[in-house]
Amino acid sequence: MAWRGCSTLGAQLRRTPSWPQLLGRRRIVSCIDPSTGLTEEQKEFQKVAFDFAAKEMAPHMAEWDEKEIFPVETMRKAAQLGFGGIYVKPDVGGSGLSRLDTSIIFEALSTGCTSTTAYLSIHNMCAWMIDTFGSEEQRHKFCPSLCSMEKLASYCLTEPGSGSDAASLITSAKRKGDTYVLNGSKAFISGGGDTDVYVVMCRTGGSGPKGISCLVLEKGTPGLSFGKKERKVGWNSQPTRAVIFEDCAIPVVNRLGAEGQGFGIAMKGLNGGRINIASCSLGAAHASVLLAQDHLTVRKQFGEPLASNQYLQFRLAEMATRLVAARLMVRNAAQALQEEREDAIALCAMAKLFATDECFTICNQALQMHGGYGYLKDYAVQQFMRDIRVHQILEGTNEVMRMIVARSLLQE
Ligand SMILES: Cc1cc2nc3c(=O)[nH]c(=O)nc-3n(C[C@H](O)[C@H](O)[C@H](O)COP(=O)(O)OP(=O)(O)OC[C@H]3O[C@@H](n4cnc5c(N)ncnc54)[C@H](O)[C@@H]3O)c2cc1C
Repeated sequence: MAWRGCSTLGAQLRRTPSWPQLLGRRRIVSCIDPSTGLTEEQKEFQKVAFDFAAKEMAPHMAEWDEKEIFPVETMRKAAQLGFGGIYVKPDVGGSGLSRLDTSIIFEALSTGCTSTTAYLSIHNMCAWMIDTFGSEEQRHKFCPSLCSMEKLASYCLTEPGSGSDAASLITSAKRKGDTYVLNGSKAFISGGGDTDVYVVMCRTGGSGPKGISCLVLEKGTPGLSFGKKERKVGWNSQPTRAVIFEDCAIPVVNRLGAEGQGFGIAMKGLNGGRINIASCSLGAAHASVLLAQDHLTVRKQFGEPLASNQYLQFRLAEMATRLVAARLMVRNAAQALQEEREDAIALCAMAKLFATDECFTICNQALQMHGGYGYLKDYAVQQFMRDIRVHQILEGTNEVMRMIVARSLLQE
């Protein structure tokens, strides 16, 4: 059962051996059980993901964070389970699973290390973009090694001067015969410098979204270089760097889709990316609720466990309620995206907005329940809180999510 994996995980994340192992709080656990409502097959791969999170990730997440280790070998092990190209088609090495299945897997993995899982989600998004918008030749060239994670991918949209207004990007690709000459720079690129394949949005035409194309670059291309590794609040198990292009010659056959389709491709990638990043938030929040549950039961003040205090009980109930509501939003949006429904874009934006905000509140509240201990790096709760803070900022800030939802409503 998936749930057993979570209980083991709860024990592992409480990194203070002097504290007794706590058992027997199954009532609260059961009402937030992430396997509720899933098919038997979904429960199976959810269990695989929870087990992987508990055994291969959770024991190392503090060290990866502290020493800023990008755990490539662990990710390759995850890829052996099919997590390198979860929603990529099987003929090029993908697992061919649905958006909902993907969300279930990322939620489970994130309980073991949110930062690493978030990078995995970006890698999966890039692999899907090549699988979906690439030619047969491109699919077969890039996807198998991405699905096995022999090669790692980065998504390159943001620039120093264009963040929320992504369509104003200025990195230019000028066509010269069979190549494009690429010049410009990208900011905040996850995996940048340590990854092998760069999916780059660049300007091949006039201003605005219709002048943007999507090129795939490989590490080692002359003229491709990287900025210094950014120092971050969280997401420390994955590097973030600027990516710089100086007269990079990119074969025209490396363009995904037609000229001018790049912005659409970038946004379609992000619809799923938003579900994925929201799912990573769910995993972090879920782990944090477990940690808070444990702490409230173990820690005594005023002669009794903190759990006897009704104020804290109510706060815990609110956290559980927010978690379950957010999970329903995310799974509903994943289903809409899978069915290619017209409301999918707005539902993905709503789910990302709601889940990343609510889950941050949950993690922050769990930290508060730990008192001073929550602020110590010996306790995992602070890492979940630090790691998911950025989910409110990237893949479109939560202000941009509001714009997308409002635009959809006002166009009706
Ligand atoms: C750790 C990390 C990893 C990242 N990884 C990647 C990656 O792999 N690939 C990639 O392409 N990008 C990546 N990003 C970039 C990320 O997507 C951008 O930071 C984000 O889109 C916001 O852009 P910005 O930072 O330029 O903020 P700005 O656009 O300057 O916005 C600043 C603030 O103003 C708000 N704002 C802006 N315009 C409006 C408006 N019209 N109305 C209301 N509020 C507004 C924003 O919501 C935000 O709160 C990453 C960022 C971080 C921090």
